[in-house]
Amino acid sequence: MANFIDVILPIPLEKSFTYSITSAEADFLKVGMRVAVPFGKSKIYTALVYKIHNQEPLIYEAKEIHQILDDSPVVTKIQLVHWEWIANYYMCTLGEVMRGALPSAFVLESETVIRKNNDVVINDEDLKDDEFLVYEALHHQSSLKIQDISNILDKKNVLPVIKRLLDKNAIEVEEEVYEKYKPKLVRYVKLHTSYTSQEKLQHLLEDLSRAPKQRDVVMTLFSVSAKTKKPVKVTDLSEESDASTAIIKTLIDKGILEEYHIQTDRVSYSGDDNEDSKDLNEHQEKALKEILESYKTQNVTLLHGVTSSGKTEIYVKLIEDAIAKGRQALYLLPEIALTTQLVTRLQNYFGEKVAVFHSKYSSHERVEVWYNVLNNEAKAQIVLGARSSIFLPFSNLGLVIVDEEHESSYKQFDPAPRYHARDAAIVLAGLFKSKTLLGSATPSLESYFNAQQNKYGLVEITKRYNNVLMPEIELVDIKDKHKRKRMKGHFSDRLIEEMTEALQDGHQIILFQNRRGFSPIVECNTCGHSPQCSNCDVSLTYHQYKNELRCHYCGYHTAMLQNCQACGSVELDSKGFGTEQVEEEAKTLFPEHKVARMDLDTTRGKYGYDKIINAFEQHEVDILVGTQMLTKGLDFRNVKLVGIMNADNMLNFPDFRAHERSFQLMLQVSGRAGRTDKRGKVLIQTYNPYHRILQQVSTNSYFEMFEEQMNDRHIYKYPPIYRLIKITFKHKDYNKVNLAAEWYATSLRQVFKTNVLGPEFPPISRIRNLYHKNILVKIPQQQSLVKTKEAIIKINNSFFSVKDFRAIRVILNVDNY
Ligand code: ADP
Ligand code: ZN
Ligand code: ZN
Repeated sequence: MANFIDVILPIPLEKSFTYSITSAEADFLKVGMRVAVPFGKSKIYTALVYKIHNQEPLIYEAKEIHQILDDSPVVTKIQLVHWEWIANYYMCTLGEVMRGALPSAFVLESETVIRKNNDVVINDEDLKDDEFLVYEALHHQSSLKIQDISNILDKKNVLPVIKRLLDKNAIEVEEEVYEKYKPKLVRYVKLHTSYTSQEKLQHLLEDLSRAPKQRDVVMTLFSVSAKTKKPVKVTDLSEESDASTAIIKTLIDKGILEEYHIQTDRVSYSGDDNEDSKDLNEHQEKALKEILESYKTQNVTLLHGVTSSGKTEIYVKLIEDAIAKGRQALYLLPEIALTTQLVTRLQNYFGEKVAVFHSKYSSHERVEVWYNVLNNEAKAQIVLGARSSIFLPFSNLGLVIVDEEHESSYKQFDPAPRYHARDAAIVLAGLFKSKTLLGSATPSLESYFNAQQNKYGLVEITKRYNNVLMPEIELVDIKDKHKRKRMKGHFSDRLIEEMTEALQDGHQIILFQNRRGFSPIVECNTCGHSPQCSNCDVSLTYHQYKNELRCHYCGYHTAMLQNCQACGSVELDSKGFGTEQVEEEAKTLFPEHKVARMDLDTTRGKYGYDKIINAFEQHEVDILVGTQMLTKGLDFRNVKLVGIMNADNMLNFPDFRAHERSFQLMLQVSGRAGRTDKRGKVLIQTYNPYHRILQQVSTNSYFEMFEEQMNDRHIYKYPPIYRLIKITFKHKDYNKVNLAAEWYATSLRQVFKTNVLGPEFPPISRIRNLYHKNILVKIPQQQSLVKTKEAIIKINNSFFSVKDFRAIRVILNVDNY
């Protein structure tokens, strides 16, 4: 009997593809293993075994596979079921899911580019001949395509060689060569081992009697480490002994102290004893009980707890419970929030059971976590990860936590699969018959609505931990302030007063502005012309510190203009303001204080994000200016005041979610104020202090906001009342996009009648030289989602059978939250 396999190829093919295998291969192969297969004229792909069977394909002759790449499956059966759900629900192919799910080191293909891993020294004798040839070639050429390697080795299938080199950590896959994610390296000191005996120590202290400062430091080191029984940070030692870091450095240079680093966030962990988790207070205890109670009837429960109510500690209890039963726990959080803060917190409790997983990790690190999870290793019992960690090969998942569940970064926009990690995680937990906890201080309308409909359980905490009061929120009318000349730049007199007071008391301040750069629009005073991006339909943002104009959509940049491009006038003015300008004004207003900025521009580089957070935590910075990056669950001890520079541009954003988002954003930033003892203060500057959302923010009225927004969603037929599928058309030819979108919309209207909106150009209709146009399909609750999607796919197929439309990119985005 002939043997065949159906494989998933990492490309957007509708169907799986069949290859023939020998009976020996059939005995060995299992679903979920990788094979190298030829595809098309000359390409070689890594494919995943999906089915093993005896049915010869009818319309083409099955080719043979080149090689088997694994000894055992790297993808589990449950994962494949999950992938099928994702492909169906989010209207994409299994190949696309595969590409999004697997670390790219797993999916080599002819086009893959590899390069030498310069972090590792490989001895020639550790390499087989063919490996050596490739490795040697990489000494002369910075990168090689797999095709080139075929030529070097003079054989067609080189994937096994590449795989071996990857396993040896000798090479890296190029698309993965991010800056290696090296999180905060905390500096610690200890006494050099040569002084550990009592006697030697005695000598040392005598020797140091003529350097009392240094002696003090050594003594302090003793008392601190005796007290805490933990590694001692350089910064702590310096503070406790009141000695400058220069003195500590002298001791290190003399070999008396030894400096070392602990990487607080990597796959492995080398910390000390585990801390016990905290005893919950009554509110937390009650919430935990209610959560467990709700799990008797629900699979998903929403924990709505105000900022700093101690949700994290509740998650910790649930995790303890799951791992005590020998099961794995997945703790999801938005990408940007993967700060060392939370990682450290969890590692203090769970030590090396915590594995961290996110897109800034190198391919190798991701592969490492992958195998640890697959093999249910102790060191990956708890996975703390960003959205892509829903693709890890859990074997015994017992709990899913989705922290900050309202965060829009859980939705993947590009490329496919355009999944929502919260929703996909709920499905994943369901496949394991496990529970999910969603947590937020400002739940998405979707989740709160689901809770109201009794689809999810709902548990609330309204008190902050320690009964710290919620911050006091004051709205500042800047229209009035302008009129009465009470503004200095973009700072109202109220904001300046509060800042002055906070700084005098030694507190820290956060200033929030939702735009980066110096000013978003440059305009000629003479003719009104403003410079535009040549690739996109947007004005260029002025960035002062580089004296550049930049496009925030495609990255295009050019030196700031001296004259107007249209009329030559030198009178160029700027309008609006971004974080850079806020930073500069704050520096001028408070020259004695240290101001720093946290936005995409300042956090790009190596450790950029961690550096700033760290400096702020250590109180090296008094005023931190930033974009929404600041909102993501950071826990700073000493922030007393939060200033929101301008609430209006968020509120006026042209999107049906603008109000919900503004509410969430403002409450989350406010939540950074006064988290420990003193009540925090928040000032919101606005032209429209009577705006409903601002009123609701200032009174912390989530429920009122919910009811009002839901009312709008009813009236205008938006989620969560209706579901949405957004269809986007892209092409460089304006007319083609128009024609295509019209054709598509007409066909949709024949089926869905008035529930089709558009086609319409989005506010920014051209990005990177491609025109965009959107259609929205609204799906009422009683309408079958499956049938709706079938109808759309049918229309999509007829669309692509029109020759003129083939070059158009059509993007289907389900639940486009
Ligand atoms: P949330 O996640 O709700 O914003 P956190 O879990 O970060 O709140 O808690 C806020 C602060 O209160 C943290 O510094 C945390 O360590 C502290 N905290 C919370 N619960 C407890 C507890 N039961 N015992 C001691 N400290 C706690
Ligand atoms: Zn001009
Ligand atoms: Zn651009």
